[in-house]
Amino acid sequence: MPLTDGAVAVLAQQAAEQIGTKVDVRVQPSTEDDPYRWSGHGRGWTVHIDPGVEVWISADASPVAALAELVDHLDDASETEQYWGRAVPACPGHQHRARVEIDGTDVVLRCPESGEVVRRITPDVR
Ligand SMILES: [Zn+2]
Repeated sequence: MPLTDGAVAVLAQQAAEQIGTKVDVRVQPSTEDDPYRWSGHGRGWTVHIDPGVEVWISADASPVAALAELVDHLDDASETEQYWGRAVPACPGHQHRARVEIDGTDVVLRCPESGEVVRRITPDVR
């Protein structure tokens, strides 16, 4: 089943929670006259997670793939003044960021050092 506006908004909010504070999430659907749809983008959404994160989610993506993509891009927030130098998604107790992987229908965050799964996130949409 293709993703919907509402589903993408839910996933974006779930990803944003990984930053740990209240952040602003905007979901922008591509339109029929979107000039980018002919440059390989197709149908989908641009998700803005303030501060500094912008992710393209294709309408063909599965919920878990979309969530993994969103969480993986949270790293871009560390380029902003507000989150400068912060590792996101965080690896509890460590300075580095956790690695984002897909395990079945869940997104898992894995410590790159110990190899242990530090968090499991189940998409709130199916
Ligand atoms: Zn770690």
